[in-house]
Amino acid sequence: MEFSLSATQAAVQQLARKFADERVAPLSREMDEQGAMPLALISDMAAVGLLGGPLPAEHGGGAWDKVSAALCYEELGRVDSSVRGFMTVHSSLVAQCIQQWGSVEQRRQYLPMLISAESIGCYCLTEPNAGSDAASMEATAVPDGAGYRLNGEKIWITNGGIAQLAIVFASTDRTLRHKGVGAFLVPTNAPGFVRRKMPGRELGHRAADHAHIRLENIYVPVDSMLGGPGEGFRVAMSALDHGRLGVAAGAVGVAQACLDASVAFARERRQFGQRVGDFQMIQAALADMAADVEAARQLTLRAAWMQDQGLKSTRATSIAKLFAVEAAVRAANEAVLLHGGRGYTNEYPVERYLRDIKGLQIYEGTAHIQRIVIARDLLGKDTVP
Ligand SMILES: Cc1cc2nc3c(=O)[nH]c(=O)nc-3n(C[C@H](O)[C@H](O)[C@H](O)COP(=O)(O)OP(=O)(O)OC[C@H]3O[C@@H](n4cnc5c(N)ncnc54)[C@H](O)[C@@H]3O)c2cc1C
Repeated sequence: MEFSLSATQAAVQQLARKFADERVAPLSREMDEQGAMPLALISDMAAVGLLGGPLPAEHGGGAWDKVSAALCYEELGRVDSSVRGFMTVHSSLVAQCIQQWGSVEQRRQYLPMLISAESIGCYCLTEPNAGSDAASMEATAVPDGAGYRLNGEKIWITNGGIAQLAIVFASTDRTLRHKGVGAFLVPTNAPGFVRRKMPGRELGHRAADHAHIRLENIYVPVDSMLGGPGEGFRVAMSALDHGRLGVAAGAVGVAQACLDASVAFARERRQFGQRVGDFQMIQAALADMAADVEAARQLTLRAAWMQDQGLKSTRATSIAKLFAVEAAVRAANEAVLLHGGRGYTNEYPVERYLRDIKGLQIYEGTAHIQRIVIARDLLGKDTVP
């Protein structure tokens, strides 16, 4: 059993840490207040090699292993969940999915553009009436000549307002449920691709872009299909294996950030003539947080390692996502309390960590759905919910 990082993995960690601390951290509060992420930041992520990191060298990627990708997501997540979320969707849900399922031509056409950020990707699965139960989707793909006509509605689509390329899931036969789903690569400038910002002010991830998308009779040629006919649900679920690892690692980053902020505050703030960190109750909170961070990190890196070995890793990845996110929820909750009134304002970052972490508990399968995936694997049932 080897717990140390290879030189390549340590270099990726350093690269991501430097980018997070020097390039993202100074912008985080302003991005959260303004509700947007500068496109220049995305180009910079591409320029330093982060966006293409998990992709093969032949298309211009960094050929990172999964452990390296997890280390990168942890570093970004430690500083800003909106930025980490952008990259998880773009690089893991979209680009890695094209790498895994795309034809030689699709990979050649799309991966270099995604790696360089010339094209931004989004993943369109959720619908108003199909969230956790994605197989009940109502969007349709009806054969039309040498292609398909897509109709339907997608919601909560991260990067949806700024993306040039969408992976759209739609049913070619609704009676077949998940076996009738197709995945399609759709340019967002296709006639009938109508998008607007999600309504309402969001609790967290305020710098992220979340769109409501209408598919109004969009024509796509048959070679825009990713995977074969009826394989779309498998495409969607395998993308979630990549994405959930990114979310788990991002949650480790959030938990670590809560611990770092809490230790610094407990050392500095004095009450009753001593540092608040000298009170045993505060020490216990910090110790529990540190134990949670370590456990979450080990579970996440183990799931990443299993993916690297080509082992069946759906259960391990769901366990990592479930535990790491719940650990980060506990850490953020405690961190706000530990900061007292100061934790309640955005003068300190911990209130943003608490708002953001709720998003990780919901997307790419809620905490309830992760428990279902784990339990079905334990009980020997099909892992598709
Ligand atoms: C910030 C953010 C970003 C997102 N980005 C994307 C994106 O890029 N692409 C995309 O396609 N979607 C995206 N989503 C959507 C997200 O994946 C869904 O919100 C999520 O899958 C839950 O679906 P839902 O909101 O319809 O909730 P529902 O499925 O309606 O669930 C409501 C509640 O019921 C629970 N529940 C449902 N079924 C069961 C069950 N069988 N057993 C027990 N409890 C159950 C859920 O856990 C939840 O607590 C995003 C969401 C958020 C908040």
